[in-house]
Amino acid sequence: MDYQYDDQNIFAKILRGEIPCAKVLETEHSLAFNDIAPKAPQHVLVIPKGRYVCYDHFARAASDAEIVDYTRAIGTICAELGVSPGEGGNGYRMIANAGNDGVQEVPHLHVHILAGRNIGPMVLMRS
Ligand code: 5GP
Repeated sequence: MDYQYDDQNIFAKILRGEIPCAKVLETEHSLAFNDIAPKAPQHVLVIPKGRYVCYDHFARAASDAEIVDYTRAIGTICAELGVSPGEGGNGYRMIANAGNDGVQEVPHLHVHILAGRNIGPMVLMRS
């Protein structure tokens, strides 16, 4: 595993407070904020505070405390957005893009939580 983390990526700047964000939740190891260009009525990005490029990097290199915090933060956000199907919500889609084929634009791990309408097909059907 050879990930080079770019400290100048936009989410690193948000974490350092160099550019603003519309914060949804902050925990010891995680931060969630609204996407600047929402693709659904509710579109929240959840990032770890640590220097992780994408999900598999985080899953293999992060501490147990970071992984638990991040996972719990996602659960809290789903509850606070009112989208949890287990609590009468209409559901959501969670996406984690990685690398070139995953079409990841910002090289700091983030999951997208999209909700507020039917999000449609999982992926475009093309070979
Ligand atoms: P990716 O394609 O890397 O999975 O998604 C990156 C996401 O970050 C996009 O949905 C984009 O709209 C969002 N984004 C890019 N720059 C900013 C920013 O400065 N602030 C916020 N809140 N979101 C951003």
